[in-house]
Amino acid sequence: MDTSMKICIIGAGPAGLSAGMYLEKKGYRNYTILEARDHVGGKCSSPEYNGRRYEMGAIMGVPNYYAVNDVEEFCGFTHDGPSLIRKYKDMNGNEIDPFNPKKNVTRIPHLLALKKQVKKLGELLETKYKGYDLNGHRGVAEGRYDGFAQTPARERVSGENENLKDLALPFSRFCRLNGIEDVQEIWVGPYTSFGYGYFDDIPAAYVLKYLDFKTAMNFFKLNLTTWKDGTQSIWERLDAKLTNHARLNSHITSVERKDGKVYVTVNGETEEYDRLIVTSPLQYFPDYADARDDEKEYFSKIDYERYDVMAFLTKPEDHPDISYYIFENMQPERYGHLMVYYRRWRDDINQPITTYALRNRPGHPEIPYDNCKATVLHDLEVMHNPADEVIREEDWYYFPHIYSDDYAAGWYDKVEAMQGKYNTYYAGEIMSFGDMDETAEYSRELVERFF
Ligand SMILES: Cc1cc2nc3c(=O)[nH]c(=O)nc-3n(C[C@H](O)[C@H](O)[C@H](O)COP(=O)(O)OP(=O)(O)OC[C@H]3O[C@@H](n4cnc5c(N)ncnc54)[C@H](O)[C@@H]3O)c2cc1C
Repeated sequence: MDTSMKICIIGAGPAGLSAGMYLEKKGYRNYTILEARDHVGGKCSSPEYNGRRYEMGAIMGVPNYYAVNDVEEFCGFTHDGPSLIRKYKDMNGNEIDPFNPKKNVTRIPHLLALKKQVKKLGELLETKYKGYDLNGHRGVAEGRYDGFAQTPARERVSGENENLKDLALPFSRFCRLNGIEDVQEIWVGPYTSFGYGYFDDIPAAYVLKYLDFKTAMNFFKLNLTTWKDGTQSIWERLDAKLTNHARLNSHITSVERKDGKVYVTVNGETEEYDRLIVTSPLQYFPDYADARDDEKEYFSKIDYERYDVMAFLTKPEDHPDISYYIFENMQPERYGHLMVYYRRWRDDINQPITTYALRNRPGHPEIPYDNCKATVLHDLEVMHNPADEVIREEDWYYFPHIYSDDYAAGWYDKVEAMQGKYNTYYAGEIMSFGDMDETAEYSRELVERFF
């Protein structure tokens, strides 16, 4: 492609900024990143309190976050944040240690069976589900895989594998089908509590592409990375390094695609581009763009999670010693309850603690924001770590996804076939998965495939 073409990128989160980086690496200099808000980073949001940054959005990575590693290398920094350690409580606030056989002698047979099932899943993923862990979802519903290996070199791989069609099933059914129901006990921690929904509803493809075997084991063994100035600083540094910094406070009122050009009206001025990359929520693209029938049809199938994060301060005597997971509250029937609370700075009690709760569940009424907040505050009292003052709240548009029927009917292959059709390319979370690395990696592949 002509590297002098004018490219408009909507959104300066991980997907949009890394699209800029990968374009720049390929020699494109004529790109513009339009960001609606007054800062970059999207859901990587790290406000400052008392001289340090805490996390209202993304928190951690794993060593195999190769696209994030690309950003670190491009900008010349590394992950240098506090280590992540957690303990567990039951829903009544009692500390438990569910995976420690010494503390759960009666559970030993179960823990041994669980270990066997985890091993079995690892083997199944290598054999029966070969090709499951590529970034994005191309071909899965048709029993194919096609993409780049999740290795630093990202070799191109493709092949046929009928079994991959099973990944359209909700994860709980996928586990039943393979006789590995118990592994959900391990996967639920870094899945549901991170706001990615319940295993009865979410296609296995999302669960296993994000928590591929290597990543899941990294979570389990706490082989995790954080950034001292927060995940937002990753994207701030990238923005500062790019030739063209994101244009903040960009209010897009229309996108018109005609005569081989893309016309974007931003803050009242119409600008002409050759190509458009949309990393903002596709669900809302038709609200301001001349969306065609196929775009409207597919984007209307997208749903998202209502994932609330709250930062609070405590009295010194109420400060938690560490972060806590509450597994019982990760079960669907406990939606709206506190699932995790996170103490980021272990050497300082004058720092906020953050809470995480999901307040939606398909087929059930959405819990109003204030009711969920009241439940979480009550749960903190039950946990013996009551909040003294709430200092910040976010109800995120979180983890856009589709459900099993649409997945099995080939939603991804249909949308992938639309890439470039209207001089428009679709990226961001829905196209791969809602984490920093999968979205940045998808942008890498998009640039690799089409530019
Ligand atoms: C509480 C929480 C915890 C998380 N934990 C982790 C974690 O530990 N590890 C991890 O890897 N990921 C985590 N994530 C997920 C990660 O933050 C997201 O997957 C990632 O930020 C998605 O990148 P994105 O660029 O696709 O979308 P976003 O980050 O949502 O960025 C989209 C950008 O587009 C902008 N935008 C939207 N509409 C428009 C418009 N019309 N015009 C212009 N701009 C627009 C938005 O303002 C935003 O800046 C977490 C997220 C949250 C909220």
